[in-house]
Amino acid sequence: MGYDLSCIVGHVDEELICPICADVLEDPVQASGCEHAFCRACIEKWLKQKHICPVDRLELSPSHLIGASRLMRNMLARLKIRCCFAENGCSALLPLDEFRAHVIACEHNPKVVVVCTKGCGMKVPKDELASHNCVFELREMVQSQINEISELKDMQTHQEMRIDVQRRELELLQYYIAALRSTNPLIRNIGEQLDRYAVMQWGGSLPLARVRTWGSLISTPDSAMHMLVREGLRACGCPMHLVNLMVDRCHEDRWPSGLLTLDSRRENAHRLVQYVTRMLPSLITGKPCIVILNGDNGHMPENLRPTLAMIMIFVDGVDESRPEYELPGDFHSDIRNTPLNI
Ligand SMILES: [Zn+2]
Ligand SMILES: [Zn+2]
Ligand SMILES: [Zn+2]
Ligand SMILES: [Zn+2]
Repeated sequence: MGYDLSCIVGHVDEELICPICADVLEDPVQASGCEHAFCRACIEKWLKQKHICPVDRLELSPSHLIGASRLMRNMLARLKIRCCFAENGCSALLPLDEFRAHVIACEHNPKVVVVCTKGCGMKVPKDELASHNCVFELREMVQSQINEISELKDMQTHQEMRIDVQRRELELLQYYIAALRSTNPLIRNIGEQLDRYAVMQWGGSLPLARVRTWGSLISTPDSAMHMLVREGLRACGCPMHLVNLMVDRCHEDRWPSGLLTLDSRRENAHRLVQYVTRMLPSLITGKPCIVILNGDNGHMPENLRPTLAMIMIFVDGVDESRPEYELPGDFHSDIRNTPLNI
């Protein structure tokens, strides 16, 4: 809003004075018609009230303002202004465009923020430095931090309680859905579609695997291994409501008929290499673990194709593999590209 005229050194031409604030033009603009010049901030504020030139009362709207002429800018650039803190000992003489930045940082500005050198390292306005007491300030700071920590702890307790309540509600909801699914065929159907969709969304993001030695398959994992599979599934983002169901499927009891027994697996041994398999995180014991998705394996015969998915643990002999060919079967691309049909 104008540079203080009394701080300017030397004579100031009248046309460099803003008619609104009566100080020296700051960021000047001119009316395109009458060519009267104003500080940008002054005239913008004025034009919010009325659309006339404050000097000659001719019509003036914001769109009629243009940048100040080169001559005017050159005249302004030649002016020098004293720092506002000349009385505090600042002897700086500045071009107008450096004035504002200088004042904020001027070492003679009593409000300039300095770092306390008495040991606390806090930032203090210079004029408060004399009365500044490190111990007192630090005690205040510690107290405010203690308050903040206690508030955060309260908040955390509250959040944990809420999460607990929500978890219980979610479990109830899952029981409720399970009950509905077991009694209502329509809902069972929708539920199965949603499960298939969720499994493919999750499973489709897992890396492909290559099983080198099908002979090292563990077909009857114990309950400890079941627990480890559960952890692995959680770790790789398996949808929460499907974890239990998937864990069940790491045992031969839950595999399709062509894999149910050692004999049937031997009979089908030549077909096992045709499975599209995906890596799960290895068990903590180091045993590799794979998942075979229904959606990846539309090309397999009915008696070898899992409903939804099955999990297999191996002693060893499984690698991650890059896909060398397009995934067989069209179900895979279908389920990811078409909306659910429910
Ligand atoms: Zn002004
Ligand atoms: Zn005018
Ligand atoms: Zn200064
Ligand atoms: Zn201090």
